[in-house]
Amino acid sequence: MTKKKKGKSQPSKKVGRNKPNTERKVLWAPWRMAVIEQYRNSSSCILCGIRDDRDNSRTLIIHRTKLSYVVMNRFPYSSGHLMVVPNRHIGDWEDLSKDESLEIMSLSQSCIKVLRECMGAQGFNVGANLGAVAGAGIADHVHMHIVPRWQGDINFMPLFSEVKIISEHLDDTYLKICQAWRKCA
Ligand SMILES: [Zn+2]
Repeated sequence: MTKKKKGKSQPSKKVGRNKPNTERKVLWAPWRMAVIEQYRNSSSCILCGIRDDRDNSRTLIIHRTKLSYVVMNRFPYSSGHLMVVPNRHIGDWEDLSKDESLEIMSLSQSCIKVLRECMGAQGFNVGANLGAVAGAGIADHVHMHIVPRWQGDINFMPLFSEVKIISEHLDDTYLKICQAWRKCA
């Protein structure tokens, strides 16, 4: 039996000490759903599906290397939210090879540089959610999140619990980041 909650569900500012808030709400939009549905149908892993699709502008891949790729998150916490993803389908962070680890860190640095340059990001949240209980949306293919931050960007604070308002269209942001990547990454 489940325990009855005290009070009604309200935009809670507190998260229980032993009960992480996993009710992350994402911003859905039709133009994103179409692509995601296709990957769902063609591959058991969305990140592998994105990797194998060679149409970068459709997948929003910004950069590819031998071992990994950089892609815009279709369900961003903020405008310009990027992910660095190893090409290999790996579920455990500790299974990344040394070369993969180095590359993921190096590409994360490039992401930060580019987002500072083209979006004027003032700070960043960088990290990975490992395992579904830790909030990983795609738990069996590890990836690093790079989320740009600005002074007063309370629309998406706290980072992993509230609905965010993304004011800039995803495709416009994609072009802007691609240009900056060529220029300064
Ligand atoms: Zn995968």
